[in-house]
Amino acid sequence: MKSLQELVRENIWNLTPYSSARNEYSGHVAHVFLDANENPYNKPFNRYPDPLQTEVKKLVSKVKHVAQEKIFLGNGSDEAIDLPYRIFCRPGIDNVVAIEPTYGMYSVCAAINDIDYRPVLLDDNYQMHADSLLQACDENTKLIWLCSPNNPSGNNMKREEVVKVLENFDGIVIVDEAYSDFSNQRTFREDLDLYPNLIVLNTMSKAWGCAAIRLGMAFARKEIIDLFNKVKYPYNVNALTQKQALEALSDPFETAKWVKTLLLERQRMIQAFSELPICMKVYPTDANFFLAKMTDAQVIYQYLVEKGIIVRNRTKVSLCHNCLRVTIGTRSENNELLAALRQYESGQR
Ligand SMILES: *Cc1c(COP(=O)(O)O)cnc(C)c1O
Repeated sequence: MKSLQELVRENIWNLTPYSSARNEYSGHVAHVFLDANENPYNKPFNRYPDPLQTEVKKLVSKVKHVAQEKIFLGNGSDEAIDLPYRIFCRPGIDNVVAIEPTYGMYSVCAAINDIDYRPVLLDDNYQMHADSLLQACDENTKLIWLCSPNNPSGNNMKREEVVKVLENFDGIVIVDEAYSDFSNQRTFREDLDLYPNLIVLNTMSKAWGCAAIRLGMAFARKEIIDLFNKVKYPYNVNALTQKQALEALSDPFETAKWVKTLLLERQRMIQAFSELPICMKVYPTDANFFLAKMTDAQVIYQYLVEKGIIVRNRTKVSLCHNCLRVTIGTRSENNELLAALRQYESGQR
């Protein structure tokens, strides 16, 4: 691997970050805060939040078994996806490589940052091959984007292939594990210490049921996390979000219960879908959704919309012709979807 200094944009490496009032004061116990031009009234909303979210990180560290100094918290995974572009990629010069199909934000952020995005097709089983990803790289490739379990296909990437990329790529490898709570594969978050070029993404938006609060996480070695902290907005995670995250993270058993219920429902839905004549195939999934190949995704999607039921039509995505992506809902929501599809079928006969 190249040194971190070789990989980071020169302006970022040399950047003097903004120093907030709350950064400069630390240490002594204090009770009179006249340093940040805040209004002394309207508690508790009058104070700037902790820029480094220390209390939240303590709990994340406990729940995720990652040291605090190796954790970045951001405004959704969105922020953790955008920052590597801003830290490592020179606009108009550098490029990134990614599996295809995958989560749309990687390419949107590439476009916003004027970075060439190089998608590399998965195979017919939605599996990645390290060699084809590595072949797509050149001396200006700074990042490789992997997502496991992958969105929209739902499956885990083969561990040996991910490891091969980690061990043979000269730059940064990002493994988005947004759905790992629904999978029983070993997470790469647990192997941070083996790979100095690894960034793992997690989110509060899926298993933790907190999409509204916008809290995403990146795990990496300290030197990379320090770069994230240098470039991020000073108060990137607001006080309400930090408060709600503390509450959610202090009850991981609730999340575990949801996951268990959703996995049972997932099994039931996959079975029911595979028995529908309008469903050609259900792809294997390790996430809280599944991808199903239908006889006519567009028509069925539209039919469901008219019934007030929204699934994701992925028919225009590479390798996903006629595919619908279905999130696992509550038992009654899932039943409504199944009833609508059976009714659609009876209308076809
Ligand atoms: C849903 C999802 C996320 C979550 O994004 P947030 O900004 O944290 O809500 C991240 N990655 C993937 C692949 C997803 O599907």
